[in-house]
Amino acid sequence: MTRDCRRALCTAGRRLASLALRRRTTPTYSATGITLVAREFQGTGRMVNFYTRERGLVVAAARGVGKPGSSLAPAVELFTLSTLFFAEGRGADRLTQARVIEPFYALRRDMTRYGYAACACELILRTTEQDQVVPGLFQMLVRYLHAMEESGEPRLLSWAFELAYLEMSGLAPVLDRCVACDRPVTGGVYLAAQGGVLCPDCVPGQGQGPHISPGTARTLATMREFDLDRLDRLRVGERTRGEIARLVREHIRYHLDLTLKSEKFVESLESWRRPAAPEDGPGGGPDDQ
Ligand SMILES: [Zn+2]
Repeated sequence: MTRDCRRALCTAGRRLASLALRRRTTPTYSATGITLVAREFQGTGRMVNFYTRERGLVVAAARGVGKPGSSLAPAVELFTLSTLFFAEGRGADRLTQARVIEPFYALRRDMTRYGYAACACELILRTTEQDQVVPGLFQMLVRYLHAMEESGEPRLLSWAFELAYLEMSGLAPVLDRCVACDRPVTGGVYLAAQGGVLCPDCVPGQGQGPHISPGTARTLATMREFDLDRLDRLRVGERTRGEIARLVREHIRYHLDLTLKSEKFVESLESWRRPAAPEDGPGGGPDDQ
């Protein structure tokens, strides 16, 4: 065998060894994420959906979580914010390590706050694709969960999240101009199919959709900005709440083809417990405007 032949064989051998090593090494990655939902999987395991800052929605199997002393169990609790380490898999990825940053315990101690936190998680889960990063959404979800722990108005905060999410997705209802003739308005008759309000001249007939008063339109404009200080100062009466509830529900149902199960649950819970909010003054709307 010539020296050249031996050299060629050596190079080929080194290449084969390096290929074999690459095949044995599973690609790994880390991300910072919130647990949106965890389902039972293969006995003591859980199949978990996280919303992460780096990769958007990540679905991963967490093995042995149901066993005592599992180091992964705390990060798999709903709403927990953690640093997560994954190994890529042929089917689902695998959660290998996790470090909890913020457990949001207060959300798990109160059924109402738990329900509204779950609404935001369900909305994200059912409307985003795996590995699709929506800019700003992760940060907004973290701010929402923090605020939900202490908010005196969890219902308003939840609507604000939904409106801000619609805004982020380019699907927010148009309330400051007529969707038919483009004339500037503040409120009007809302039509889900048109994606916003119509001025009195463009309304096709009676009973077409809910009427959004100018006060409610201003409240909705404040809510979709998701400024937590301003949201804290909002005082919203019963009539405005009714208008907001109907508009947000109809808009999400029509434009995202979605009815949130967690919202139905928490609303039925609330109807048993919530004292009536004060009636609106003339025009309704926020007190801080
Ligand atoms: Zn018009």
